[in-house]
Amino acid sequence: MAKKYVYLFSEGNGSMRELLGGKGANLAEMTGLGMPVPQGFTITTEACTEYYAHHREISDEIKDQIFEYLEKLETITGKKFGDPKNPLLCSVRSGARASMPGMMDTILNLGLNEEVLEGLAELTNNRRFALDAYRRFIQMFSDVVMGISKDGFDVILDDVKLRKGIEYDYQLEPEDLEEIIARYKQLYKDDQGVDFPTDPKQQLFEAVKAVFASWENPRAIYYRRMNDIPSSWGTAVTVQSMVFGNMGNDCGTGVAFTRNPATGEKKLYGEFLMNAQGEDVVAGIRTPKTIKELAQIMPEAYNQIIQIADTLEKHNQDMQDMEFTIEKGKLYMLQTRNGKRTAQAAVKIAVDLVDQGLCTIEEALLKVEPNRLDSLLHPQFDPEALAKAEAIAKGLPASPGAASGRVYFNAEDAKEAALKRNEPVILVRAETSPEDIEGMSISQGILTARGGMTSHAAVVARGMGRCCVSGCNDLRVDSDNKVCYFNAIKVNEGEYISIDGTTGRVYLGQIPTVEATLSGDFGRFMEWADQVRTLKVRTNADNPKDARQARLFGAEGIGLCRTEHMFFAKDRILAMRQMILAKTKAERVAALEKILPMQQKDFEGMYREMAGLPVTIRFLDPPLHEFLPHDDDETAITAYEMGISFTELKNSVNRLKEVNPMLGHRGCRLAISYPEIAQMQTRAVMQAAINVVREGINVTPEIMIPLVADAAELGFVKNIVDEEAKAVFEEQGIKLDYKVGAMIEIPRAALLAEEIAKYAEFYSFGTNDLTQTTYGLSRDDASQILDDYFKQRIFEYDPTTKLDQNGVGKLIRMAAIWARQGRKDIHLGVCGEHGGDPVSIQFFQTVGLDYVSCSPYRVPVARLAAAQAEINNRK
Ligand code: ADP
Ligand code: MG
Ligand code: MG
Repeated sequence: MAKKYVYLFSEGNGSMRELLGGKGANLAEMTGLGMPVPQGFTITTEACTEYYAHHREISDEIKDQIFEYLEKLETITGKKFGDPKNPLLCSVRSGARASMPGMMDTILNLGLNEEVLEGLAELTNNRRFALDAYRRFIQMFSDVVMGISKDGFDVILDDVKLRKGIEYDYQLEPEDLEEIIARYKQLYKDDQGVDFPTDPKQQLFEAVKAVFASWENPRAIYYRRMNDIPSSWGTAVTVQSMVFGNMGNDCGTGVAFTRNPATGEKKLYGEFLMNAQGEDVVAGIRTPKTIKELAQIMPEAYNQIIQIADTLEKHNQDMQDMEFTIEKGKLYMLQTRNGKRTAQAAVKIAVDLVDQGLCTIEEALLKVEPNRLDSLLHPQFDPEALAKAEAIAKGLPASPGAASGRVYFNAEDAKEAALKRNEPVILVRAETSPEDIEGMSISQGILTARGGMTSHAAVVARGMGRCCVSGCNDLRVDSDNKVCYFNAIKVNEGEYISIDGTTGRVYLGQIPTVEATLSGDFGRFMEWADQVRTLKVRTNADNPKDARQARLFGAEGIGLCRTEHMFFAKDRILAMRQMILAKTKAERVAALEKILPMQQKDFEGMYREMAGLPVTIRFLDPPLHEFLPHDDDETAITAYEMGISFTELKNSVNRLKEVNPMLGHRGCRLAISYPEIAQMQTRAVMQAAINVVREGINVTPEIMIPLVADAAELGFVKNIVDEEAKAVFEEQGIKLDYKVGAMIEIPRAALLAEEIAKYAEFYSFGTNDLTQTTYGLSRDDASQILDDYFKQRIFEYDPTTKLDQNGVGKLIRMAAIWARQGRKDIHLGVCGEHGGDPVSIQFFQTVGLDYVSCSPYRVPVARLAAAQAEINNRK
C-alpha cells in the first residue's frame, strides 16, 4: 500500500504529534472530542522530510494525495474549491512537533480569485467582507509564498487610509478595498513579472511548498537552536476550511488561556477583537478587548468557550492556550496547545494541578522547562529605590522581572551594544516582529508601544524569561531618528530606563535590583524535585558570597572552587609577581608565604559557608604570564613597586609569553615546575580545614588537580600534597581525611581514566576545556567560526554551551566506565557550563555520573533537570 502522507482531522488524534505536528494533532483531537472545529486535513512531517530529500520538490505521489484529500474536504464541507457559487476557502498552516510561535507563516483565505470574490460577495451579501478577505490573501500569499516584503503593501494601505483620513482597517469602504486590491496586484506583477495566480489549486500547491520551505528560514533555525529542536523533525502542513471573524460586528477572533499565563491564576484569561481576522490579535495592530467583555457582547459564545476550556484542560492535564473565531455568533475552535507561561505561572500551575488532583508530582515536575526557572532567580527592583522612583509610563505587565538598561530601537543596535560593548539593553519597539527575536534574547528587557498580553513580544519574552512591558500607550517610538517619547519626556538611544514586567511600569534612569529567594510554591516544587532526583547538584563558587547564594538555591556542595581568582586580588598580585619572578627557590617560598595566610582565610570562609558540605578546591590553573603586567605603563609601575628595573621585568614578561597559552604552561604543569605552589596551596587548604574543624564544622578537604594528562603527572603532584598534608597534620597534632582527584579536561586523561584512577579518588569532567581540546577549538575564538558553521548548517548548536554528546560525550561515557574499572568507588562529577544545561544533565544522568556542578544561578535549574532526567530514565 502506498504510504499515507495526508490525514483528515477525523483520522488523526492528539498522540500523533510527530506525524501531524502539534497543531494538526490537536485539531484532530478536538474534532474527536466533538468540538466545533472547521474541518480540514494535515500533510505529515514525513512529507516535509521527503520534500527536502527531493531537492525541495513535492513528489507526484504526495501531490496526488493532497488533491485527493482536498476533494474529501469538499465533500465534508459541501463547498467547492474555486467554485464562485459555493466556494471553499482554506487556511494553510504550519505545525511542528513542538510549537514554534510566530516562526512559520500562515496563509488565510486561500482559494480566492476575481470570480470567487464576486461569488463570495453575493453569497454572504457582504461585498466589503469579500474584498477584505481578498486583499489580505494577496498580501499574505505575496509575503509568505513569494517572499515579497510586506512594506510595499503597507505603504499602499497606509496611503489609502491617510487619504481617507481613517485610522483602522475596518473603516475601509468597498471602493477603497478595490483600489487597494488593484494596487496590490500591480505590486505583485511588478515584483514577479507575472500576474497574481488565479488558479486555486496552484495557490494551494505553492502555499504548501512555502510552508515546507519556511522550516529552513533563518528565524526558524535560530528558534530551533535556542530551544533544542532538531532540524530533522520537519513541519506538517494543515489545510483547514476557513471561518470568518471579519464578517461584521457579530464576528471576532481571539485567544484564550485556561489560566492566567503571567501569574498562573486559575481563571479564563484572554483577548479578542471584534470584526477581525487571524493574526490581528497577536500582531498587536489594535489593542484588543478582554475575554470578560465577550461575556457581555456574545454571552452564548463566551459560555461555550468556558466549557470547552474546562474540557480541554482536564483532557490535556495542562493549561491550554486556545485560538478561536466567532462567525456570525457561532464559535469555532482553531487551535489548542499547552500554553506558554511565565516561569512564575509555570510553577504555580504545576503545583496547583497536583493539588487539584489533575496530575501526579512526577507529571508536574515534567511540566516546567528547567531553563525557565532562571527568570525566578533574577532580581527585582530594590523596594526602597523603587518607592522613590517615579513611573513615567505604564503598559501591560507582559513578562515579569525587573530590568534597567540602555535604550536601543532595533535588534541590530541592541546586539551591537550588548555583545560588543557589554551594555545592559532595553529593546524599545513600536511592536516586535519575529525578526527581532535575536535582539530580544540579548536584551535585559523589552518595551513595546503596541500589542496586548498575547502579542508577539509578550509571548516570545515569556518564552525566554525576559522581562517585558507591552502595549505602552504613553510611548511613541521614532526608530528612524532613534528617539522615543513618553508623552512629553524624550529618551535618546543609549539612555537608561528601567522597566518592571510584573507591574508594567516604566521609569527613567537606573533602579538598583535585589536578589530573589526560593519560597512558597517555588520552594515546594523544588522539594519535589529533590525527592525525585538521584544526581547531586553542586556549585562552582570561588568566594563565600557566591557559596552562600548557591546554598540558598539548594547547592549540595562546591564542585569547583577556582583558586586563581584568589591570586588575582589586588592586594595579592604583588606577592604573586614576586613569586613568579623569584630567581631562587628561597625567594619563591618567601613570596608564597605572604600569599598563604590570605588564601587560607579564603578557604576558611568557604568551609564555614558550606557548613560541612563537600568543597572541591582546584589548584592554580592559568598561565603565569597572566599575572604579569600587560603594557608598558603597567610594567613601569609594577617594576617600581617591586624594586626591580623596567627592563628586567619586561624581559621576564616576554620570556613567559606563550604562543598558545591555552595549551601552555598551566594547570598541573605549574605544580611540576614549581612544587612550592602546590605545597603552599595544600598547606592553606589543610590549615583552613583544621581551623574550621576545631570550630565544630565537619570538613573533608577535596583537592582537584587541573589539566592532568598522565598518571605519573598526577602521581607527582599527589605526592607533594600528601607530604605537605602530613607535615601540617604533625605540626597541628590532628589528622583529617582528605581526597585528591583530577580534573578531566584533556582527551588523553579521559582515554587513560583507568590508569590515572590509581592516584585519584574522584574525577570531575571539566567540560569547558574538554570541549575545547576535543574539538581543538578555542572557546574564546569560537563565536566567529561558529557563526559560519551555523550559516552553512554544519553545526546546529554551539558545543561550548550544549554538550557534544557524540564526541565529547562519548569520551565522558567511556572514561566513566574505565575510571570505575581503575577504582570501583571513584566519585564522578562534571563542572563547567554544561553542568547547568538541562539537555546535558539528562546525558550525565544516563552516563551514571554522581553529581553536576554549575554556577549558583543554575543550581535550581540543575535540580529540576536532574529530577526530570531521573523520571525520563525510569520510563
Ligand atoms: P501561528 O502558529 O502563528 O499561531 P496559525 O496557523 O495558528 O499560526 O494561524 C494564525 C491565525 O490565523 C489563527 O490564530 C487564526 O486566527 C487564523 N486562522 C488560521 N486558520 C484559520 C481558519 N481556518 N479560519 C479562520 N481563521 C484561521
Ligand atoms: Mg496559532
Ligand atoms: Mg580547565
